[in-house]
Amino acid sequence: MRLELTERLRCPVPHAPTPLIVVASETRDRDLVRGVAGCPVCRLEVPIREGHVRFDLAAAERDAPAAMPPVIPRDAPPDVERTIALLGLDTPEGAVLLTGIYASIAGPLAAATGVVAVVLSATPADAVAGASATAPVSAVTGALAALPFTDGTFRGAALDAALPMALVADAPRTVAVRGRLLAAVAVPPPAGLRELARDDREWVAAREAVPTVVGLTRRT
Ligand SMILES: [Zn+2]
Repeated sequence: MRLELTERLRCPVPHAPTPLIVVASETRDRDLVRGVAGCPVCRLEVPIREGHVRFDLAAAERDAPAAMPPVIPRDAPPDVERTIALLGLDTPEGAVLLTGIYASIAGPLAAATGVVAVVLSATPADAVAGASATAPVSAVTGALAALPFTDGTFRGAALDAALPMALVADAPRTVAVRGRLLAAVAVPPPAGLRELARDDREWVAAREAVPTVVGLTRRT
């Protein structure tokens, strides 16, 4: 996982929003390869192994060998060019969150755009294919109550039909203002979005600007 992304990890446990403290034991160029992320509030410890953030592993398993079988797509994968266009990934910067079936095109999407792909999957069996130094893909694995990233981390996110509703509702928060969310039509659009287009397969929407909170003071 890119070092700048590890700085945006947030504890997914339901308590006050708290960034995870990351301790690296191995880095390679701009990537954190091995380490551990810890929450100062609930003491959650999450191993990072081969660049993947393993919420599915207990800290005690940190030193066991990593097992990351290749992706076996269950359905036809989404079209790479169409997904890039719908997410508006026309410049090689930032990161995009890909869930479910969209994870199966993470490698080609990252290679074509230069955008860092973060794959969310329930188990390592769904994780990464096609990753390389020039097509950076990292996985976040485990059953999560919330997305483990701070607000505005991603320039876009793709949500497939199998994503738990709690994570669908949490997704807009993790996308930068005016960033895109792309989802299967079966996914009900969460609040805070402006729909841009829809067909029989998917909808795409932009995250609305967060309303400015105006402080009211009483004149005396
Ligand atoms: Zn915590």
